[in-house]
Amino acid sequence: MPPSSEIQASNPETIAFIGAGNMARSLVGGLVARDKPAAAIRVAEPVAELRDAMQRDFGVAVFVEGADAVAGAATWVLAVKPQVLRSVCAALAPLAQASQPLVVSVAAGITAAQLERWLGGDVAVVRCMPNTPALLGAGVTGLYANPRVGADGRRRAQALLAAVGATVWLDDEARMDAVTAVSGSGPAYVFLLAEAMQAAAIAEGLPAEAARTLVLQTILGAARMLTEDDADAGELRRRVTSPGGTTQAAIEAFEAGGLRELVADAIAAATLRGRQLS
Ligand code: NAD
Repeated sequence: MPPSSEIQASNPETIAFIGAGNMARSLVGGLVARDKPAAAIRVAEPVAELRDAMQRDFGVAVFVEGADAVAGAATWVLAVKPQVLRSVCAALAPLAQASQPLVVSVAAGITAAQLERWLGGDVAVVRCMPNTPALLGAGVTGLYANPRVGADGRRRAQALLAAVGATVWLDDEARMDAVTAVSGSGPAYVFLLAEAMQAAAIAEGLPAEAARTLVLQTILGAARMLTEDDADAGELRRRVTSPGGTTQAAIEAFEAGGLRELVADAIAAATLRGRQLS
C-alpha cells in the first residue's frame, strides 16, 4: 500500500482550506460529520493554536503554508478575511495556474473576477456568501460559479456548502449584494426583533428571564413552522390571526407603522452598501 501522503496527493476529492478560523472550522466539521474522510482534508493556518485544534478535533492534515496544503488538492477553499485574500491569492497564483483547481471563496465582497485576476487569470471560481448560522450547521449560502466551473465543480462546491446548511445558486453575480443584504445580514434583523420583543415584554410587566424564554422560544417555534409546514409565511400568519383577536390588533399596529416598507428600505440600504463596498 502506498503511504497516505501519496493517496492524498492523487485523490481528486481532496480539499485544501486556506485559513482555520470560524468558517473553515464549521465547514470542516460539517464535512467530517457527513463522512468526508479526514485524510482528504488539508488545512493551512499560520496560528499554531488553531492549526492544532483542527488536527485534534477533526484529524485533518495541517500546514503552516498554503502552498503545502494545496498540493494535490482539486478543490481549494479560501477561508481568510477579505483584507488578506489578495496576498493569499498572489502566493498561490503559480500553483493555481499549474494545477487548475476549483477555487471556492467564502470571503464577503470579493468578486469572482477579482479572485481570478489575483490568481493569475483563467481559474474556475465559485464565490459563496454563507451566513453566521453556518457555524451551527444551520446556515444558508448564496453561490455563484464563473463560466470556467463545470458540472463537477458545481457538484463539489454544492457538497461543500451543503455541509453547513442550505444552498441557493445565482446565475447573476450582481445579485450577490442582495443575498448579503437578505441572508448575510439577516440574522441581525431577527436579533433586533428579539431585542424589541423582549423589551416590550418587560414593559408589559413580565420578568426579564420569562420575557427572554417566551421570545426566543417563540422565534424558534415560528422558524420551525416556516420551514416544516408547506404553507408560506402569509398563510401561516393568516391561520393564527383570528378576526377581532389579539394577533390582529398587533398586526394592524405593525402595518399602520409601515413595517413592510421599513423592511424593504432596510434591505435596499444593505444591498446598496454591499455594492459600494465590493
Ligand atoms: P477568522 O478570522 O475566524 O478566520 C480566518 C483565518 O485565516 C484566521 O485563523 C487567520 O489566522 C487565517 N489566515 C490569515 N492569513 C492566512 C494565510 N496567509 N494563510 C492561511 N490562513 C491565514 O474569519 P472567519 O469568520 O472564519 O471568516 C473567514 C471568511 O469567511 C471571511 O472572508 C468572511 O468574509 C467569510 N464569512 C464569514 C462568516 C462568519 O459567520 N464567520 C459569514 C460569512 C462569510
